[in-house]
This record gives sequence, structure tokens and C-alpha cells, in this order.
Amino acid sequence: MKSQYSQIYLDYNATTPCDQAVVDVMFPYFNTHFGNASSSHHPFGWLAKDAIDEATEAISKTLGVSSKEFVYTSGATESINGILKGLYRKNKSKRNHIVTTKAEHKAVLDVCKFLESEGALVTYLDVTSDGLVDIQQLKDSISKNTLVVSILYANNETGVIQPLDVISRLCKAKGSFLFSDATQALGKIEMNDFFEQVDFACFSGHKLYGPKGIGLSFIKEKNANNIDAFIHGGGQQRSLRGGTYNTPAIVGLSKAIVLAEKSLTKETKRLKDLRNQLQDGLSAIEESIVNGKNVNRLPNTLNISFKYIDGVNLLRGLSRFLAVSNGSACNSAEVNPSHVLIAMDIPATLAFSSLRFSLGRFTSSEDIKNTINIVTNEVAKQRKSNILWERRDS
Ligand code: PLP
Repeated sequence: MKSQYSQIYLDYNATTPCDQAVVDVMFPYFNTHFGNASSSHHPFGWLAKDAIDEATEAISKTLGVSSKEFVYTSGATESINGILKGLYRKNKSKRNHIVTTKAEHKAVLDVCKFLESEGALVTYLDVTSDGLVDIQQLKDSISKNTLVVSILYANNETGVIQPLDVISRLCKAKGSFLFSDATQALGKIEMNDFFEQVDFACFSGHKLYGPKGIGLSFIKEKNANNIDAFIHGGGQQRSLRGGTYNTPAIVGLSKAIVLAEKSLTKETKRLKDLRNQLQDGLSAIEESIVNGKNVNRLPNTLNISFKYIDGVNLLRGLSRFLAVSNGSACNSAEVNPSHVLIAMDIPATLAFSSLRFSLGRFTSSEDIKNTINIVTNEVAKQRKSNILWERRDS
């Protein structure tokens, strides 16, 4: 893909470019086939409905899940809001306890905070220094009052993958629902058992070379009555989320999922090799620490801290050459250290000096070689003017 930018793009966990094949299948549904899928009395509507049914069927087949278990939303954030608020509001008189972790995406943490204001009891679990959920704490926290356990499948900042098999068994034993934000996992790792393990999940189009503004909620068929509607009105999507279907985006999302799953095995290996090449190269920089190094991680993600470096200055220095991030792009307005790294007990100064590299479909071996050189030189340059670096051994 040709880009107008000269920077090497290594921020694929923030967003991905739309695949040209995705753009191509979406295009006719903006104008030629513009009908409303709910217009059931003429061919304009029939065609849109057929396109949505076909797209949904393709997703269903690809993921091995019934097409009645999906709800289209505007993105993962809406899905998270819809699922957690919908579950809580429907069930709060029976169970009002939610368990989550301190290393979740802000979309989950902010919804949990909001639900506390509506009376929910929320437990925020610690994670280990490698970013894994503290299983003993989880065991001790789940009770007969626990409505839902909300655990991020793959962390957007560190790539750390949680052991959903263990977590799922604990939830089932207590009759609690398991919701997993799998926004970063879909299209990056095999998810064979995932839909068995969870009751609810969410995904987002723009993280896997699909369009922005479209997301997917997974709601197990047997749980559809356990949740309030995300949006009332119109009766679409089995009355779980009213509003006119976004035909081009749904068609695009479906294509993106099919394409991602098709190339998954090969692409996972390619990305892992490149990520490891990057990890080895950057680990050669003195006083660098890879975060989440010892556990199962997304193949495309590297989170690394450089001691004696100010992360904001480093990002500024690199921005002429590289597009990377130092935390979640969704909360980049904040100047606090990453809450994910803080949850891993990484000191604030080190959390501030961390970078997240996330590789993707268009990352080449050449990009990685250049990135290693650029970062190595910039870190050396910035340390030269840092008096603490000079005095580190004295
Ligand atoms: N959850 C995770 C793990 C994410 O990485 C993101 C986006 O960064 C979101 C949720 C929010 O996704 P969306 O942009 O589709 O609302």
C-alpha cells in the first residue's frame, strides 16, 4: 500500500487502513444500492437486506457462531457500553457485582465507574508484573452475587493474552457471565474455543482492516433475554439495537473478518517473526525492558521501556520517522502514565518512558530494520543530554 506519509506506521493497534478489497465491496452500498434494509416492500430494501444477511452469514461461518448471536454497533466502545449497562440494568435486583481488572481498556473501566454511580459493586483485580489476571484474586472475588466478569482478551498496549479457559471455568462454576473485550484479538490470533468460553464479547471493524464506525457484539443466544436493549427504537437486530442498518459498513466488516481469518496462520507467523526481530534489536539498547515478555502475547505487539528517557520527548523525536504510541491512542489526551503499565507495578517513571510498537499487514522487514536504527539513535541522542544517564553508575 502506498502512503502519503513518510513515517513508518507501527500503530496498527490504534487503527488499521481499510483493505482495498473491503472498500471495493462497500462502495456500491453508498449510492447504487442505497436502500434501507428495513424497507420490506420494494427491491431497494430487499437488496440491502440480502447484502446484510449474506454478510452476517459469512461472519457466522467464519467464526463458527450462529448469525443470531451478533449485534452490529458503531464500534467496540458502544458494544462495551451496551453489554455491561444492558446486563446490569436487567439483572441488578438479582446480582449487582461486577469483576474486572485494573488493566482493562478505558472503555470498560469508565463504564464500570459509571455503573458504580448506579449502585453496582465493582471489584478491580490486580494483574501480575507480566500483565496476567491474578487468578487467586479472581477466585476469591467471584461470589453468588457476581453478575459478570469482564476481562480483556488481548491487551491493546502490551498484547498480553489472558487465560480465558481458566477464567471461563471459574465463572461457570459460580453462574456468572463472562464478557471479554476481544477487540485486539480478532484477526490476530486463533479463537477456536473463544466463543465457547465467553457469554458476551465485542469487536471493532477498524482494528482489522475494516471500516471505522462499525463494531460487533457477540451475545450468546441463550443470554439474549438477560440483557436490556442497547438502543430502543425501530425493532432492528431482534430489538437489541434499533436504528437503520449501516449496510456499507456491515458488508465491509464482514469482508474484513473473512480476509483476516483467511490469512491468519501465515500472517500470525510473519508478524511474530518481525516483532521478535524488533524486540531483539531494541532489547540490545542498554537499560531497556520488554513489558509482558514472559507470557503469551499478540504476535504483532511490543511494549518496551527505556530507562533514563522521557517518553513524550522520545515520541516527539521519533515522530518525523515513526508512527508509534506510548499508551492507548483512545486516551492520548491524558498525560498520565499508562494505567496498564501502572497496574503491572511498573514505576511511573518507567511507564512514562515506554513505547508501544504494533505491526500489521503492511509492515516489512525493511521497516523493522530501519525502526531499530532510528530508535537506537534517538535513545542514544536523548540520553546524552540527560545528566541522570551520565551519573547512573556513580
Ligand atoms: N477495546 C480495546 C481493547 C481497544 O483497543 C479499543 C480501541 O483502541 C476499544 C476497545 C475501542 O474500540 P472502538 O474504537 O471500536 O470504539
